[in-house]
Amino acid sequence: MRNLKIDAERLWGDLMETAAFGATPKGGLARLTLTDEDRKVRDWFRTQAEALGCTVTVDDMGIMFARRKGQRDDLAPIAMGSHLDTQPTGGRFDGVLGVLGALEALRTMVNAGYETVAPIEVVNWTNEEGSRFAPAVIASGVFSGVFTRDWAIAQKDRSGIAFGDELKRIGYAGSERCGAHPLSAYFELHIEQGPILEAENTEIGIVTGVQGVRWYEVALKGQESHTGATPMTMRKNALLGAARLVDRIETIARAHPPHAVGTVGLVEVKPNSRNVVPGEVFFTVDFRHPDAAVLADMEAAFCHALDEVCVPLGLSVACEKIWDEAPVHFDKDCIAAVRASAATSGYSTREMFSGASHDAAVVARVAPTAMIFVPCRDGISHNEVEFSSKEQCAAGAQVLLQAVMDYDRRLAEQKR
Ligand SMILES: [Zn+2]
Repeated sequence: MRNLKIDAERLWGDLMETAAFGATPKGGLARLTLTDEDRKVRDWFRTQAEALGCTVTVDDMGIMFARRKGQRDDLAPIAMGSHLDTQPTGGRFDGVLGVLGALEALRTMVNAGYETVAPIEVVNWTNEEGSRFAPAVIASGVFSGVFTRDWAIAQKDRSGIAFGDELKRIGYAGSERCGAHPLSAYFELHIEQGPILEAENTEIGIVTGVQGVRWYEVALKGQESHTGATPMTMRKNALLGAARLVDRIETIARAHPPHAVGTVGLVEVKPNSRNVVPGEVFFTVDFRHPDAAVLADMEAAFCHALDEVCVPLGLSVACEKIWDEAPVHFDKDCIAAVRASAATSGYSTREMFSGASHDAAVVARVAPTAMIFVPCRDGISHNEVEFSSKEQCAAGAQVLLQAVMDYDRRLAEQKR
């Protein structure tokens, strides 16, 4: 396989040039989906892709596909991409790197005259962030059959404007039906959005999946009473129960190292008065792990702890599971392509699960998928100070390029 090399300066130039669309004074981006700023970056992307000889199609969720023909157009395209929308005080790399890195990878192939067997596409997914129109990954969700298009386009922002109306207004309501677009595979380059790669001084994260999530809401009920007049042995202190449970949740997560995380992030105490024994506490629990079986163990341990803590304290418990998102395991051939590509390129690597969700996590339902992570400074994202260096961005795009070429070669052998 020819060892093509992406142009780090050119990729960095694209990142900085497009950062003008929605630039914030603090050096970040405010490019909410389907705004005029989003339209400008979409227009820019279309112009760049067409200059490379690509055909750009847009589906009825506004998802953009820039396609370069392969030797065999009977094969479904190998896609790479991410999202160009950002949070209201977002950074210049989250999502953007995945699209512009893909564009740079494609440009490298075009300039070298390298022909793939399958067509290659660069994809810009609409509204990954979900900050203007909830939920997140709404377009890749429709693409993958998680949401219906009718429901998605009816979603409104806080000023009451519908997704579908804004899509039309900016001129990106395409004619292709969302989801009627088979992919041979999908590769997404993204900043890690966490601190692991930087802390370990590792250049590339080979992302093997996205961890599962379970959320619970817990209400404890005891007895409000006077703090001065109620002996310690005669109290039903709901906050004491909650405190012990917070500690148990920490213990449960730490009992499943290194991946399990468990968090109580929200607590409400009633009546929240300094001389009343707390009678009621509401709190939330967030468990995450890459393995559904471990999540089930954590859940069982948590249910056990609820009784063990609350019964001796005379508290009643109501616990509801409000979200159960199964872990996503990426495709072994796509992961192998990323692994081989990182090895060819000589980068230090580690295999990891994604802590955050991505378009790739949803697209994995309908196409073989994998992701590539690069470090970001202090693990910070969804923040204007978000930063990955020119070299880090280039390393990610290089691995993306080689992974797609590797996958294409394997696909050609399979489909001979
Ligand atoms: Zn993102």
